Amino acid sequence: VVYLDYNATAPLRPEALEATLAALHSVGNASSMHHPGREAAARVDVARRHLADLLNCSPGEIIFTSGATEANNLALRAGYARGGMLVTTAAEHLAVIETARAVTAEQQDSLLVLPVDKDGVVDLEPLVTALRARPVALVSLMLANNETGVLTDLAPVCKVAHEAGALVHTDATQYVGRLPLDLRALDVDLLSLSAHKFGGPQGIGALFVRRGAPLPHRPLLVGGGHERGWRAGTLNVAGITGLGAAARAARQELAHEANRIAALRDALEEALIAEVADCRINGARAPRLPGVSSVTFPGLPADAVLAAMPHVAASDGSACSSGAPSPSHVLLAMGHSRDDADSTVRFSLGYATTERDIERAATAAVDAVQHVRSVMAATVE
Ligand code: PLP
Repeated sequence: VVYLDYNATAPLRPEALEATLAALHSVGNASSMHHPGREAAARVDVARRHLADLLNCSPGEIIFTSGATEANNLALRAGYARGGMLVTTAAEHLAVIETARAVTAEQQDSLLVLPVDKDGVVDLEPLVTALRARPVALVSLMLANNETGVLTDLAPVCKVAHEAGALVHTDATQYVGRLPLDLRALDVDLLSLSAHKFGGPQGIGALFVRRGAPLPHRPLLVGGGHERGWRAGTLNVAGITGLGAAARAARQELAHEANRIAALRDALEEALIAEVADCRINGARAPRLPGVSSVTFPGLPADAVLAAMPHVAASDGSACSSGAPSPSHVLLAMGHSRDDADSTVRFSLGYATTERDIERAATAAVDAVQHVRSVMAATVE
């Protein structure tokens, strides 16, 4: 199988597997004072440092969570507790959109959802207007979209938000480990990530909280006061260790991998455009992540195209939620029709993708499109 679904989950990196197994093989609660406990705590410290190095932040600014969903929930709940509006966008992952709806449920006019244009780029004008009109507690904008890879230019957002006293959160789940990130330069207050998107294990992630950010203390889980009181519960030492190893490996290859992967993605898109004249690449005019290609094959159901290429693991637009067959809200927000949204396949590449993978996937996709077309034509006759 050619695996092109890195945005759903990336294969576990060998370094992460090794580190996770080593941690699983040893006993010790990171809160215990005895030697095995100290060893577990040391593993966590090393991983925290690796992640801090990848983000260029301080290890003390990281709270380990079960993933980006939890990190987003934590960020939005605490951020909204500052008082004021919550501002987000129509193209966010459901882990942000549904959390934003839940926390503002009792005061729905305190949620502003910004539109995106046909390229998936956020329109900042309504944000600026909102910041002038009413107090805003938190602005939450994703750094890279999971379906299209479209990037958000956050520096101007941070500037206008901070001038108005709002905090800025970013869901950077698809960005971390794929493009360089420098949290000393990018002035966000909160940032969410998940290890399994950059080659770490599933079920572990983190929330970065900038030191000194005026954030009310609103943990989702209370109990033993772990993670400086922000996330109670025995630390997932093995998961954290794997996350750290993946962060280290991703950081080492960041400089050259992004270009290599972008070239592979471009080759895939060129092959598809050459053979399937009416296909469209979503978000292609905007700056994008290197490894994502969202392709609409007009008139052809994405699930049929995917089924016709069983040796390629890609996904339809809505794969990030739990299999619910609804059209992608991201593509709808970009102005696509429901039919086009249902005819969109997402290919996502990553560190282990090869040229050969792309050649095979391109051939398989072109064959699949022709097959589905002929089946549909035969059905109409
Ligand atoms: N945010 C974005 C942009 C994502 O792509 C994902 C993963 O699907 C998540 C959040 C949720 O991550 P997790 O399921 O690991 O909590």
